[in-house]
Amino acid sequence: MTDLPFLEWMSLEMRYYSLYARDTRSDNWIFRHANDVGVTLNEGYADLRCPKCKKIDELKALKRGLGECQIRERKADFFASHEGMSCVSLEFKQCLEAAGVRGLEYYAAPNAIGRSVFVIVPTLRVKAKKSAFKFGKKCPACRRFKTVYGAPSTEQIELPQSAMTILTTDVSPEKEAGLMFQLMTGEDVVKLLKDAGLKGVLAFRIHP
Ligand SMILES: [Zn+2]
Repeated sequence: MTDLPFLEWMSLEMRYYSLYARDTRSDNWIFRHANDVGVTLNEGYADLRCPKCKKIDELKALKRGLGECQIRERKADFFASHEGMSCVSLEFKQCLEAAGVRGLEYYAAPNAIGRSVFVIVPTLRVKAKKSAFKFGKKCPACRRFKTVYGAPSTEQIELPQSAMTILTTDVSPEKEAGLMFQLMTGEDVVKLLKDAGLKGVLAFRIHP
């Protein structure tokens, strides 16, 4: 035990958590919108849609900008869109940045209710054992899996050297509507969010 460098020892001892939004409200949309005929992909992303499975390349869409997204969430600092994208308030972003927490990219999501809201994408992808996931069929056109489900234990992922990070696995869970990043972090970041009084975050311990 004492032969290990301090940071490595710390990450082995650290408790890790998965972060979930308390509310996945059906009226928050990032790439699509609900209307009389059902759900329609926002204009500007049409060429990113797979003709077969209808998924879009979410990362390319985020880089193009989110001028048409529909955010109705008024209170929570952490919430999910109908599609499964995680969103945060300006206060959430500032809290993490002030503490030097790394591992997220923020995409401004303009909205009609006058809130500063950001879609977050985890950039620190750690290796996870494939056996921790259940893979559905592959789309014959875009080769993406139709569904990927799983929640690896801490023994099935390579934990980072720094505790002040939010991370995800190199395998991204997918539902039929698209990507849903699984966000994980150490107990220090969970405590930071809790102490800041940020609303809407659920943290579940990842068991070794
Ligand atoms: Zn496809």
